[in-house]
Amino acid sequence: MDQLTGASPRHVLEAVAGRVGCDLTSGEVASYLDEHDELRHLREQFLIPKVADLPPSDLSLVNGSQDCVYFVGNSLGLQPKSAEGYLRQEMEKWAKIGIHGHMQGERPWAWAENNLEALMANIVGAKPEEVALMNGLTVNLHLLLLSFYKPTATRHKILMEDKAFPSDHYTVESQIRLKGYDPEESMVCLSPRTGEETLRTEDILEVIAQEGESIAVVMFSGVQYYTGQLFDMAAITEAGHDKGCYVGFDCAHAAGNVELKLHDWGVDFACWCSYKYINAGAGGLAGAFLHEKHTDTVQPALMGWWGHVIETRFDMTNVMELQPGISGFRLSNQPILLVCPLQASLEVFNMTSMKALRRKSVLLTAYLELLIQCSYTRDPGRPTRPHVSILTPSDPLQRGCQLSLSFSTPIKEVFHQLEKRGVACDMREPNVLRVAPVPLYNSFSDVHRFVKLLGLALAASTQPQ
Ligand SMILES: *Cc1c(COP(=O)(O)O)cnc(C)c1O
Repeated sequence: MDQLTGASPRHVLEAVAGRVGCDLTSGEVASYLDEHDELRHLREQFLIPKVADLPPSDLSLVNGSQDCVYFVGNSLGLQPKSAEGYLRQEMEKWAKIGIHGHMQGERPWAWAENNLEALMANIVGAKPEEVALMNGLTVNLHLLLLSFYKPTATRHKILMEDKAFPSDHYTVESQIRLKGYDPEESMVCLSPRTGEETLRTEDILEVIAQEGESIAVVMFSGVQYYTGQLFDMAAITEAGHDKGCYVGFDCAHAAGNVELKLHDWGVDFACWCSYKYINAGAGGLAGAFLHEKHTDTVQPALMGWWGHVIETRFDMTNVMELQPGISGFRLSNQPILLVCPLQASLEVFNMTSMKALRRKSVLLTAYLELLIQCSYTRDPGRPTRPHVSILTPSDPLQRGCQLSLSFSTPIKEVFHQLEKRGVACDMREPNVLRVAPVPLYNSFSDVHRFVKLLGLALAASTQPQ
């Protein structure tokens, strides 16, 4: 496929079909793409659930010994194979040497996560000293807003999306109240234009240009969790800065999914979780980013002993010597059992690069999009046949790996039929499925199988009972 790089993904896929001598929808195209996928070996680093082990699967409909189609890495990434061994090491160390584990072994507990910051920084386009691994995402968003949201009578607003993830909504709302302001006035929520599913960059920039002087913080997601839209973080950051606003991003659905350049874009702060695309397990250790330009000026509002410089942290003098930058925001000693799976996953990411992952991802998602368009778009000749439209932007620059599919029929039964056939994806009633082919462990054959199973699921769910 090397000769084809630079071409549009659709062009690449059509050229591959031509080369294989098959229709684009043929399974041979998927096999060819998998054989030529330079990252296909990374799938072996993960435990892929078997169809038979997924609770709702129905073994009269599908072979239980095969891998499931796991398209829900946007919600909970798969387990890296090395995670369990790392956990066992720490459990054994605890059993054998107790408190000495703080200073000894592969991961001395007292600074176990410090080795991971550089690995994480590569994923989000930051310098290692700009990244901390701590807490959960929502906690980190609160900690960062406590330092960045300093409302005044004239500049008191926080700009965000109307359909932001609920936790982000609650965070912003409560931060505004905490500072004595009224969310009704200080929370500015952007919605897409009537009849449109996603926000236009030009509209976001326009609001910032018009209202920027009253906006203290612009707080967007990097990738919208529901629509899969990837925002133009560089442009939003620049527009916010032009008006004197701070600009932060919740990268929950962006980290490990798209290429981020938090440092180069000059983003002021960011946070993300590690259990979605980063595969560190439910409730995993979250990330926080503070740009180096703020190292000496932006201080944590809340302090704890883990923010103290390590050399004198254990002298217990009660005189704070704060670590510079984001490390000073750390509060508690690290949960070593969360460090282990995160390390396992970050090591897999660092076997490749976000650039290479993204290259595969663009093709993988374009392939899914094309197959859906070939099979399930509205047919004017058969208007009653169930059909699918895609809410996610079709421009690869405006999306990550996820596609949000909107169905002309109620989704619940279709989803149920998919689950019976060994597909794991995410349903949002009344009629949306979110599907995420993840380039680290999903294959082109997964995509092909998904589209075929979707046809069976649609047929089964629309049959008269
Ligand atoms: C997943 C997600 C969260 C979840 O928050 P936690 O603190 O990790 O439970 C919050 N915000 C966004 C945008 C998310 O996608």
